[in-house]
Amino acid sequence: MKALVKPSAGPGFVLKDVPVPKIRDDEVLIRVRRAGVCGTDVHIYEWDSWAQGRVRPPVVVGHEFAGEVTQVGRLVTDVREGDRVTAEGHIVDGRCLLCRTGNAHVCPHTRIIGVDRDGCFAECIAMPATNVWHLDDTTSFDVGGIHDPMGNAFHTALTADIPGANVLVTGCGPIGLFAIGICRAAGASRIIASDINETRLHLAKRMGAHDTVTPDRASSAVRQQTGNLGVDVVLEMSGVPSAIHQAFDLVRVGGRVQMLGIPAKPMEVNFATEVIFKGITIYGVVGRRMYDTWHQMTRFLRSGQFDPTPVITHRFPLEEYEDAIRAIKGGEAGKVIFEVG
Ligand code: NAD
Ligand code: ZN
Repeated sequence: MKALVKPSAGPGFVLKDVPVPKIRDDEVLIRVRRAGVCGTDVHIYEWDSWAQGRVRPPVVVGHEFAGEVTQVGRLVTDVREGDRVTAEGHIVDGRCLLCRTGNAHVCPHTRIIGVDRDGCFAECIAMPATNVWHLDDTTSFDVGGIHDPMGNAFHTALTADIPGANVLVTGCGPIGLFAIGICRAAGASRIIASDINETRLHLAKRMGAHDTVTPDRASSAVRQQTGNLGVDVVLEMSGVPSAIHQAFDLVRVGGRVQMLGIPAKPMEVNFATEVIFKGITIYGVVGRRMYDTWHQMTRFLRSGQFDPTPVITHRFPLEEYEDAIRAIKGGEAGKVIFEVG
């Protein structure tokens, strides 16, 4: 089969023929139809210091996908050939303290497809049946293929108290954009979205943001919309240090900051003034809660009140992976996807 591979330590990918994966008795084989491209893939492509410390080539890259089941292991009971599915890309041990107390999203033994084992930028992928998630008949493969980043957004938004809340979203990349639509569907009363990029602010408006501002205007927008109080919830979705400080500054006393964006380097925080004396709660987001987030996501999609499709702006065949990487690095794209089969 055709697969996009990180062949060895160093920058770049190669598209090459590799054997179709052999499934274990508790796994299924999935024919990939759509796959989402994400910042993590760009890190692996560029071979930055994070990738050098984590990835052990050769590995098939890619972790966001949807497709059809073509083969089922002997021990699998609830997935059948022909099922339309996506999957949770974090493979956990299911045995540790975290997994067995309902916190598998922070399992210390997590292995991620396309990072720690072969991923989905390929015609087929093997997945443990426990990670497979069935798609409704009405959910397209396009939408199925972006369940992973959409799930990040659901996790970030819905572990805060959104109904009736004033919300600031810092960073309108694909995940921030999904989060805006989710907050709107979940009944936020005011959504202020901030980004440095006009194209992305335009998408933020389309996804339901009430106010879209550049970071230099976020403070006055928040003060104006909240009677100088600050927002109840900030969804920090940029990972940029100045935006993280802004999140602590613009959340109201006793409010909540949901941190998804990952700063590239350690950063300084004045805990006394930014956190403690404001009495705020900070929640660190890792992946998707298994499987509360997945159920919420399916039900929101089913309700028809949340539509992620405007976020998908670019699509490429696997062969044009260089263009896909370039589209993401350009910073103008919403979600970039591969059409695989
Ligand atoms: P992205 O990089 O496309 O989005 C970040 C956005 O922030 C961009 O649109 C950028 O223009 C904007 N931005 C830059 N400076 C800003 C500022 N000062 N104020 C407001 N916005 C600013 O990424 P994405 O794919 O949407 O992911 C968002 C973040 O979440 C990234 O940091 C990514 O690494 C992280 N992430 C975390 C998890 C997790 O499990 N915690 C999972 C996936 C991604
Ligand atoms: Zn575990």
